[in-house]
Amino acid sequence: MPQHCESCRMPLAAGTYCPRCTDDRGLLIPFEALHVELTHRVMVRNEGMSRAEAQEIARQLMAAAPAWTNHPATADPREPRDPR
Ligand SMILES: [Zn+2]
Repeated sequence: MPQHCESCRMPLAAGTYCPRCTDDRGLLIPFEALHVELTHRVMVRNEGMSRAEAQEIARQLMAAAPAWTNHPATADPREPRDPR
């Protein structure tokens, strides 16, 4: 049964996270670093897409991933969370 990286949802042969989502010690890289990386990947895959569009797609991708579901940065900016 194919597995998926719990950080970026890429297909994975084994383990929890793919090499792109971890540093050389096997630890998950920071949210911002991965968001930049995913934005780049989305733009490469979708020629002509604006950076803002790609950033939004990358954010949604990460919001759906188990590793980031509860990260405040995955919150939809159009639906601000109650600050309390
Ligand atoms: Zn990954």
